Amino acid sequence: MPSSIITVKNLVKKYGSFEAVKGISFDVQEGEIFGLLGPNGAGKSTTLEIIETLRQKTSGEVMVDGFNLDKNPNEIKRIIGVQLQTSGYYPGLNLVQLIELFCGLYNQQVDAMELLDSVNLREKAKAQVKELSGGQRQRFSVATTLINKPRIIFLDEPTTGLDPQARRSLWELIRNIREKGTTVIITTHYMDEAEYLCDRVAIIDSGKIIALDTPDKLIDNLVASGFERPKEMKLANLEDVFIHLTGHSLREA
Ligand code: ADP
Ligand code: MG
Repeated sequence: MPSSIITVKNLVKKYGSFEAVKGISFDVQEGEIFGLLGPNGAGKSTTLEIIETLRQKTSGEVMVDGFNLDKNPNEIKRIIGVQLQTSGYYPGLNLVQLIELFCGLYNQQVDAMELLDSVNLREKAKAQVKELSGGQRQRFSVATTLINKPRIIFLDEPTTGLDPQARRSLWELIRNIREKGTTVIITTHYMDEAEYLCDRVAIIDSGKIIALDTPDKLIDNLVASGFERPKEMKLANLEDVFIHLTGHSLREA
């Protein structure tokens, strides 16, 4: 029996009179990659930031690793890794210096070069964030979520705006993080990404969860309902062509 590391019950978030999150409930199992999928404005970031203790909920109950969000937010902060917007990093510091700064804030000892190595950024150790490509920035910001050795990391649209190679490289990084036992919650509106990465997904639309299951099961259910694609699927898509022609290697040095 897998155990829940996050439980959300009847979560509601109002911005003034506008209800952005309308009473959603879900569990995240320890060690899984859980996806929150939905179009822009669905309420994904709001939900994530409430669980991350960064935003006040209107009502509902959130438990993270046995800690109640209302009573023990500091205990929750200690076991989660939160991705900051890369624009939020102190300018003027290089990657190693930024990691050392975070280590100080989290009171953690981390080998900065080893951490950079784990996200393929060793050669950028002395660079500043503004000198990095989009994919490198995202890998760096994922690395910073790992500094406090969290049980859970939260990634909000980590691959938006990346080219196919950088996207795939980030997918492998996220899988590696999960292989080491860290639970991952990710938001995305790319369905190929969710299908590749996520063990289970919740599809959220206008503040409500309208489906929650494994990608496989959701697809099987749709097919069982009589759905058929309008035209026969080819054995490859344009992204396959692109990757075949341009290769998997990252273009950002
Ligand atoms: P998503 O991440 O799925 O795109 P968000 O959680 O960012 O969605 O936003 C959900 C809804 O709440 C949107 O309609 C958005 O405009 C609104 N919203 C988000 N943040 C605020 C805020 N600080 N004040 C008012 N409305 C907000
Ligand atoms: Mg968002």
